[in-house]
Amino acid sequence: MTDTLTRDAIAQKIKRLEYRNLAFIDGQFVPARSGKTFPTLNPATGEVLTEVAACGSEDVDLAVQAARRAFNAGVWSGLAPAERKAIMKRFADLIDEHRLELAILESLEAGKPIGECFNVDIPDTANTIRWNAETADKLYDAVAPTAPDVVATVRREPLGVVGAVLPWNFPAMMVGWKLGPALVTGNCVVVKPAQLTSLSTLRIAELGHKAGIPAGVLNVVPGLGSTAGQAIGMHPDVDLIAFTGSTAVGRRFLEYSAATNLKRVALELGGKNPQVVMPDVSDLKTVASNVLASAFWNMGENCSAGSRLVVHRSIKDALLDEMLVQLEADWKTGDPLDPELRLGALIQKDHMDKVLGFIDRAKAAGLTLLTGGERILEETGGYFVAPTIFDEVPRDAEIAREEIFGPVLAVIPFDTEEEAIAIANDTCYGLAASLWSDDISTVHRMSKAIRAGTVSVNCFSEGDITTPFGGYKQSGFGGRDKSVYAHEHYTELKTTWIKLA
Ligand code: NDP
Repeated sequence: MTDTLTRDAIAQKIKRLEYRNLAFIDGQFVPARSGKTFPTLNPATGEVLTEVAACGSEDVDLAVQAARRAFNAGVWSGLAPAERKAIMKRFADLIDEHRLELAILESLEAGKPIGECFNVDIPDTANTIRWNAETADKLYDAVAPTAPDVVATVRREPLGVVGAVLPWNFPAMMVGWKLGPALVTGNCVVVKPAQLTSLSTLRIAELGHKAGIPAGVLNVVPGLGSTAGQAIGMHPDVDLIAFTGSTAVGRRFLEYSAATNLKRVALELGGKNPQVVMPDVSDLKTVASNVLASAFWNMGENCSAGSRLVVHRSIKDALLDEMLVQLEADWKTGDPLDPELRLGALIQKDHMDKVLGFIDRAKAAGLTLLTGGERILEETGGYFVAPTIFDEVPRDAEIAREEIFGPVLAVIPFDTEEEAIAIANDTCYGLAASLWSDDISTVHRMSKAIRAGTVSVNCFSEGDITTPFGGYKQSGFGGRDKSVYAHEHYTELKTTWIKLA
């Protein structure tokens, strides 16, 4: 890995940056059949970066046909697992080699801080591909415990064609989370990135092809959800939808499936995640820095953001005082390409207005605004919102219940453990939670009682590639991302029952 993250290196790389802005179908960059394009913007300036091919159902159909041809020909699923592993490891290496370029694409298009893109998002993407690659020749199928006159094998086989429909908040990471398990299990894939963030995905697909992934195995159809996204959801020859995004659109994919070929649907959806702080914690400084990071990392545009701080009344004020000091010192908002800053722009004007709407209604309802609560840096033309904390938020307030997907933290005090658990679980979501306590019994009791796919204790985290990620209740459906558990929904179980003579 030769890239380093300096202002000079960023400036040099931007000068030479070339956008891949066409669809990637059957191993080639091609315009949309209609010739239509849509602009993609830099949310930190409001300027258009480039025009991207706007794929419609015709293009989706071509991509699905290419994927099906590749699947049927066995150019990928028919390889020895060790060969798939080698190609995917080269793919991961190429992502690492292009780390700075990909980080810049992420930062420019999504307004994300370049330091996070460079140090977290792109390495995570490469690591996910590499980790999955390593599983190719290490996982065994099963032989069933049948009677002696029968041999029955239970094998995992690829589904065929996977449609991956993705969000804008972690464009490269989400591609990695879907491609890793989909490809290693032998599937062919058609990816639709979010219309706001196509550029890194298109470049990643090109790198995959360069690494040796055969034509047709990995296709990208940029476009709008209502056209390209729906066309993938309704396509009769797609076997699985792997989706990350809002709960509302996730529901649509279940409807598409029901209306067409009963394709499998795996959904990673929203969250309204609690961070529960018990009164026995001794190190408030550490708790404060983690609570801030959980709430504001990626500007709160994170399905697992800890957007509800459920804190014991006896330590609430001390914790908030410490948080405000750290917020002022460590959480500066500004140019996403500045490697020193931790907060960039929100994804687009409409989304910023939605976030400001939540803030305005909370103010109008008389909630206590501790800090932030406004648009900032308007003179840049970018969509920046100050990190915002409301104190003494009632459980039923809008900002305590709705996923805001912005830098807004609702502080909800409690008096008893039972109340803390009730508040934590008082949501239609169940994606992630954090729990802070120095007492091991409290940790065991409460982490069991909190209904969420991941409960992080004395930290905030989505786990790593070895652990499954996904949600209870309306945060998820049909499978988990990451770890070997992710392989389950990308494969069918095949029983072969052999009666011996
Ligand atoms: P959406 O659910 O709206 O979009 C996710 C993907 O689905 C995008 O590729 C989108 O395309 C596509 N899509 C949109 N409408 C349809 C449709 N009718 N049929 C098929 N595909 C469709 O999420 P957004 O990214 O717009 O974010 C909206 C909200 O979703 C956020 O505010 C947040 O609450 C939640 N969210 C949750 C995420 C998570 O990780 N769990 C991640 C991102 C968002 P297009 O880009 O063209 O709209």
